[in-house]
Amino acid sequence: MNQERLLIIGHGMAATRLLQQLTEGGYGGSITVIGDEGGVGYNRIQLTPWLAGEVSEASLNLVDDAWYRHHRIYRVNGDAVASLDPDGLVTLSTGRTLAFDTAVLATGALPRFPDLPFPPQPAIRAFRSKADGHWLKALPRGQSVVVIGGGLLGLEAAWGLRARGHSVSLVHRNGHLMNRQLSAPTAALLAGAMSQAGITIHLGCELRRINANPVIESVELTNGEILNARVLIAAAGIQPNQHLAQQAGLGVHRGVLIDDQMRTSHPRVFALGECAEFNGETFGLVAPAYEQADVLASVLCGRPAHWSPLQSTTRLKISGLDVVSHGRIDHPDARHLTLNAPGRNQCRRLHFLNDRLIGAEMIGLRSHLELYQRLIEQQTPINDARAVMLGNMKAA
Ligand SMILES: Cc1cc2nc3c(=O)[nH]c(=O)nc-3n(C[C@H](O)[C@H](O)[C@H](O)COP(=O)(O)OP(=O)(O)OC[C@H]3O[C@@H](n4cnc5c(N)ncnc54)[C@H](O)[C@@H]3O)c2cc1C
Repeated sequence: MNQERLLIIGHGMAATRLLQQLTEGGYGGSITVIGDEGGVGYNRIQLTPWLAGEVSEASLNLVDDAWYRHHRIYRVNGDAVASLDPDGLVTLSTGRTLAFDTAVLATGALPRFPDLPFPPQPAIRAFRSKADGHWLKALPRGQSVVVIGGGLLGLEAAWGLRARGHSVSLVHRNGHLMNRQLSAPTAALLAGAMSQAGITIHLGCELRRINANPVIESVELTNGEILNARVLIAAAGIQPNQHLAQQAGLGVHRGVLIDDQMRTSHPRVFALGECAEFNGETFGLVAPAYEQADVLASVLCGRPAHWSPLQSTTRLKISGLDVVSHGRIDHPDARHLTLNAPGRNQCRRLHFLNDRLIGAEMIGLRSHLELYQRLIEQQTPINDARAVMLGNMKAA
């Protein structure tokens, strides 16, 4: 019998997928998973629809308690790993120690807070966990909320909070929303739709000061404006949570350095998901974390596999407003083809480099997305860009 003791540190989306793949792949060792949040693995990306009241809390769960029992997965809930000795021992914040033969770091990422002085308080927080969601859901209606960051997380948080009846302002450093996934014209349409929903958008500025006495009252922007703020949500990016790896002397840069089998610099320790860095890249979406989990499960089950990142699709989960971006939308030499119906909040913009499709952004028009994804992944030569736009592409 295989006596290998596998220990997974962090019990988020990557860890849960890894557990599922290990059980399906017939992993023979014993498995322990340690999560500081408590509960079963849940779908973090559904936190926004839950905040907005569109789905139930129970529907977030990826598995149930019986599933862990059935697969004899031992859970340590609501306790954090405080230190890691890569030669085979972790110490929890409660002082308890656990030995392992192989460990996997799946500690996710931490939100970036504004680099400004403020007294610590619950009203200045991120929106990353069920605990954050519970706190935000308990707020009485009509609060002044400022969300920092006009990327996916900030927009979704702003939307969810607006849906709960708060007065929401969103501050974004760049001149247009979702600047890493959308070009300026598409983002302008999105900004219009957010404004129609009652969210006030402040572009091209940052926070200069947080006025708190000691509870937050307002914020001052770099353009001089002062916004009332009873709650401040930090959604201006994340940083890989690589503290344990760093303290353990593993190779780290922005994230925990891994190879294409998720191995860190120590032979007993693997890492995956948002805490990891591969070939200079870190990943803030669930698709690469799941792909890594699938490969790592194969490796741990004794079936060598290798991972290479694919282009990920970004989707905004805002009800009634379908926003999708795939591939590269910022190549300076790309040609664009745009189909616009601003009155209906619809837009489709394709980016071509030479005779290849390299990026696609869409608002309100989801059709042909799979074709675009395939053409981008396979780098298929294209001789009729308009036909592609209309979904009529036959392989050249
Ligand atoms: C509101 C929201 C919406 C999102 N929407 C999308 C989306 O639409 N599409 C998309 O692709 N991605 C989305 N994401 C990102 C996606 O959720 C992450 O990419 C994914 O969860 C990464 O999985 P992970 O396991 O690496 O990290 P996580 O899911 O964050 O899990 C890490 C876990 O480890 C725990 N942990 C950390 N340190 C320790 C320790 N020392 N001991 C014990 N436990 C520890 C953390 O508390 C956490 O529970 C969204 C994220 C948020 C917050």
